[in-house]
Parts: sequence; structure tokens; C-alpha cells
Amino acid sequence: MTTAREDPAASWREHAACLREDPDLFFPIGNGGLTLHQIDEAKAVCGGCPVARQCLDWAVRTGQTEGIWGGTTETERRLGAGAMI
Ligand code: SF4
Repeated sequence: MTTAREDPAASWREHAACLREDPDLFFPIGNGGLTLHQIDEAKAVCGGCPVARQCLDWAVRTGQTEGIWGGTTETERRLGAGAMI
């Protein structure tokens, strides 16, 4: 799997709204209420991100199976959430 840092086409990352956020926020663990709250918080950051489309495209293209990317969870990406943002 390619990471964003290894992908030369990932210059969009420099404009990410999450650069100053705790990375753990975007990798929630579990299914409980706290996790759902964390997902909502991460999605709120993505909602104001100028490169959300590029982020989502990258996550789908590189098969990211964990984390919030482009305002979507892994499950949402698997279900074809590309049209969500
Ligand atoms: S869409 Fe979300 S995860 Fe992707 S770069 Fe923007 S803030 Fe970060």
C-alpha cells in the first residue's frame, strides 16, 4: 500500500485541513459512542478541507482500509461514498 507521503502526486496533502489535528482523530478504534463522536469530529474537519476531493480520490485509488479520508469512513468508501462530498 502506498502512503500519502510516498506518493509524489500527493502534494494536495500540504493543504490538508488536518495537518494541525491529532492524527489519532482520523483513525478511530471501536464502534461505541465515543468512537462515533470521534468520527463526527474528524468528518467536521474534513468538511472544511479544501482538498477533500483529492484526499478521497487518493484513499480510494490506494485502497486505504482504515481511517477517515475525504470525510468518509472505510465502510462508506467501500460502499461507494465518492459521491458524498
Ligand atoms: S479530507 Fe480530511 S483527512 Fe483528507 S486531507 Fe482533508 S482534513 Fe485531512
